[in-house]
Amino acid sequence: MPAQIVVLGGGIIGLSCAFEAARRGMKVTLVEPGRSGGQASGAAAGMLAPFSENTEQPDSFFQLCLSSLSRYPEWIAAVEELSGMPTEYIQSGSINVFMHEADLLPIESRLQWQNNWGAKAELVDAARLRKLEPMLSASAIAGVYTPGECHVYAPKLVAALEEACRTLGVVILDHAGFIEEISSLAGGGAAIRTQALDHPVFADRLVVCAGAWAGSYERWFGLSIPVHPIRGQICSFDHGPDEVRHMVFSSQAYWVGKRNGRLVCGASEDVAGFDTTVTDRGIDRLIRSSSRVFPFLQARDTKHRWAGLRPATRDGLPLIGHVEGNPAVIMASGHYRNGILLSPITASIVADLLEEKVTALPIQSFAPGRFTAAVNIARS
Ligand SMILES: Cc1cc2nc3c(=O)[nH]c(=O)nc-3n(C[C@H](O)[C@H](O)[C@H](O)COP(=O)(O)OP(=O)(O)OC[C@H]3O[C@@H](n4cnc5c(N)ncnc54)[C@H](O)[C@@H]3O)c2cc1C
Repeated sequence: MPAQIVVLGGGIIGLSCAFEAARRGMKVTLVEPGRSGGQASGAAAGMLAPFSENTEQPDSFFQLCLSSLSRYPEWIAAVEELSGMPTEYIQSGSINVFMHEADLLPIESRLQWQNNWGAKAELVDAARLRKLEPMLSASAIAGVYTPGECHVYAPKLVAALEEACRTLGVVILDHAGFIEEISSLAGGGAAIRTQALDHPVFADRLVVCAGAWAGSYERWFGLSIPVHPIRGQICSFDHGPDEVRHMVFSSQAYWVGKRNGRLVCGASEDVAGFDTTVTDRGIDRLIRSSSRVFPFLQARDTKHRWAGLRPATRDGLPLIGHVEGNPAVIMASGHYRNGILLSPITASIVADLLEEKVTALPIQSFAPGRFTAAVNIARS
């Protein structure tokens, strides 16, 4: 087992990797340039929805998502016990609503393969839909009800993970500033210097969990890391008990009721570099969708508006695995729309790699070097 693990990045992925490595007995330091959970992970809606997010086929990404969902009950129990903090893990089930007959055409094949993977999903007609979600618009003609999908309150899960890490003895170096230098040491391992720390941090193994900023590591690892920030704008409304009972998805937006009396509605997708400004254009689209799907929201103003940067890769798949030619470095970045869902399985795979064990799932599709190979082929 490596002596000293350094995790770079304190979003949900970095905190989860640190937590899992520490609970398997490893010595871990986490280095975060700003505040842990201060970026995408603190902005997320917290949906754990592998079936609603993957409607086409049971590919390796779907299987990663599904495996992660199945780990959530044990994961949450451990995080809550070690932190003493609630995460608001709610098994609400989800409903994908449809407004047009044409939307129903692909549903049969979707239900068939998803139910083979344990979704227990069913197509519900307008009358049943109204029983499940009485406040839905009369224009909703049918829906897919998936009882096993869940959600958490992402900012609370991140805070609880941070506390659980501290309980396990993880050293968390927040506000460390950006990484200035990573130098290889003669005896193996690396020394990391950051803008704000007045001492280097030594590592036998590095785990890079830098979210939308992962591309900045290209210069140290000689690897093409095409991770780009995709801005997600999101808002919330006041929400009475039971007004929206499930996670509800339409083709334009989604709604998730939280215990704090807020209904979260997300999320736009646009390219704005590393800018997390909220725009009227982004939020107006969510407000229009809200009025169409839940007419009672027409009379409500948004209470809170915010934005975060999803770490997107060129092929939509995360980067999880060893950096080729640099066995001391593991990447766990680029989780795009599903980083909250994928945190337990990512942490488990990373800890398996650190322990040099066979990983819980095959990870070839997520190899960090896959874009570098493509660049080399294109050049030859
Ligand atoms: C509006 C919105 C809604 C979302 N809803 C959901 C959802 O419902 N369900 C779901 O599963 N996912 C959702 N996501 C996606 C999810 O939030 C992300 O996939 C996830 O947070 C990524 O986690 P991360 O730790 O990789 O990134 P982050 O949380 O962004 O953390 C990366 C960390 O790295 C730090 N950093 C920056 N530069 C460096 C550097 N050079 N070195 C080291 N660290 C660095 C940053 O300061 C940051 O703290 C949503 C995202 C958005 C924006």
